[in-house]
Amino acid sequence: DQEQAKSPRPYRLGVMGGTFDPIHHGHLVAASEVASVFDLDEVVFVPTGEPWHKSAQEVTPAEHRYLMTVIATASNPRFKVSRVDIDRPGPTYTIDTLRDLRHARPDAELFFITGADAMAQILSWKDVQELWSLAHFVGVTRPGHELQNMGRDDVSLLEVPAMAISSTDCRARVAASEPVWYLVPDGVVQYIAKHNLYTPVQQQTRPAT
Ligand code: ATP
Ligand code: MG
Repeated sequence: DQEQAKSPRPYRLGVMGGTFDPIHHGHLVAASEVASVFDLDEVVFVPTGEPWHKSAQEVTPAEHRYLMTVIATASNPRFKVSRVDIDRPGPTYTIDTLRDLRHARPDAELFFITGADAMAQILSWKDVQELWSLAHFVGVTRPGHELQNMGRDDVSLLEVPAMAISSTDCRARVAASEPVWYLVPDGVVQYIAKHNLYTPVQQQTRPAT
């Protein structure tokens, strides 16, 4: 009716946070599946800045992770990439990501997408009580991890096609000269090779001059 035509439903914005070091088909399938089931208008991928829970390890510079995420999502009109976390100084906390996105899109309903492993850690996240008020959380299945019911109405659990892929395994494969074709998008395979990512320095190849 007319009343509904005047007030369309709020914009439904999915948020997929991650280190994306590198982005792989597990991330993309999860985002695509949640977008379909929850009728999302858009999913924004948000590469972390300096990841607070990974600071002990080496993490690839944010610009590389950002560009791989752009390459991987470029062909999907509903997928976008945000720089909010990589442009914010200091370690990344999901609460800041959601506050920034809420500020940029006050009209939108936020759906934060997280895999089973990250879901299990959620209670240890900073300002967890405010997290629930900023977004609806969607936990997706991930091979090798138990998807825990958080006992909350505003947390949904969704089974997605099983992709036994992790960025850690992709990095180890590249370091061991094993293929990552079909685990990550073609453009990401090529980006990794072009920039010698994940390859020990002594094995790096130089382009012919
Ligand atoms: P790393 O091994 O470096 O931790 P990762 O593969 O876990 O990398 P992240 O960038 O840490 O990737 O994950 C970002 C988000 O995507 C997290 O919520 C994570 O649970 C989810 N995720 C990652 N891989 C999968 C997968 N294969 N299936 C479902 N969800 C996934
Ligand atoms: Mg991870």
